[in-house]
Amino acid sequence: DPVVRVEAICKHYGSTEALRNIDLQFERGKLTTLLGPSGCGKTTLLKIIAGLVPATSGQIVVNGRAVTGPGPERAFVFQDFALMPWATVLRNVGFGLELKGMAAAERNRIARRYIEEVGLQGFEDKYPHELSGGMRQRVGIARAFAVNADVLLLDEPFSAVDEQNRRKFQEDLLRLVEMERKTFIFVTHSIEEAVYVSDRIVLLSPRPGRVSNIIDPRIDRT
Ligand code: ADP
Ligand code: ADP
Repeated sequence: DPVVRVEAICKHYGSTEALRNIDLQFERGKLTTLLGPSGCGKTTLLKIIAGLVPATSGQIVVNGRAVTGPGPERAFVFQDFALMPWATVLRNVGFGLELKGMAAAERNRIARRYIEEVGLQGFEDKYPHELSGGMRQRVGIARAFAVNADVLLLDEPFSAVDEQNRRKFQEDLLRLVEMERKTFIFVTHSIEEAVYVSDRIVLLSPRPGRVSNIIDPRIDRT
């Protein structure tokens, strides 16, 4: 069964029709990219799946259950990272586990593991303002992985990473995708990035956002 089902989702912002009748399914262990030009509704769709923005009509079903708000089975990384500026990298990464009431020793052990996975070992005790934008993005990703949600929602996770480090960061992410067997939904406007990281690409066309095509970029590689 698909982990996430998007069923007949429509979204209007006042008189702006952002999404029209989106139907999609997302499976475990697969990375799906939502690709399309600026304004086609990628971020809106991701936020609706996250439960952060209400749909005008339609529903989101996660693990067989219709959801109407955020939940622990979905973790997300958005462009503004939303890190706590007063907390260290270690505490930021372990924060979702802290909210669940996990003891410090255990959550720090898990946090350290993901800090290492995203290549930030040695930065555990730094504060967000001491890091570059790309490093802050990695902290956001480590935090999302650490909570062990079934579904990871990522909005342009490489946008703040400079050109030289981007490929390395993409490879780190792909390794995590393969290791963790989770459901990944990833937003980008870069075709190059989409083809490199995705099992499946959903092309959205703008005004209003609609699914115009679904592509499996891995088919020709095997
Ligand atoms: P993206 O990088 O995904 O194209 P934008 O920079 O266009 O995103 O927008 C960033 C955020 O601002 C979006 O998450 C969206 O919720 C909000 N936003 C975009 N367009 C408008 C608008 N016309 N009015 C109010 N908020 C908007
Ligand atoms: P994308 O992520 O593909 O750039 P968005 O989801 O940010 O697209 O935006 C889709 C459409 O909805 C755009 O026309 C945008 O201006 C509009 N929009 C997004 N967020 C808001 C908002 N909070 N208020 C009003 N309009 C918005």
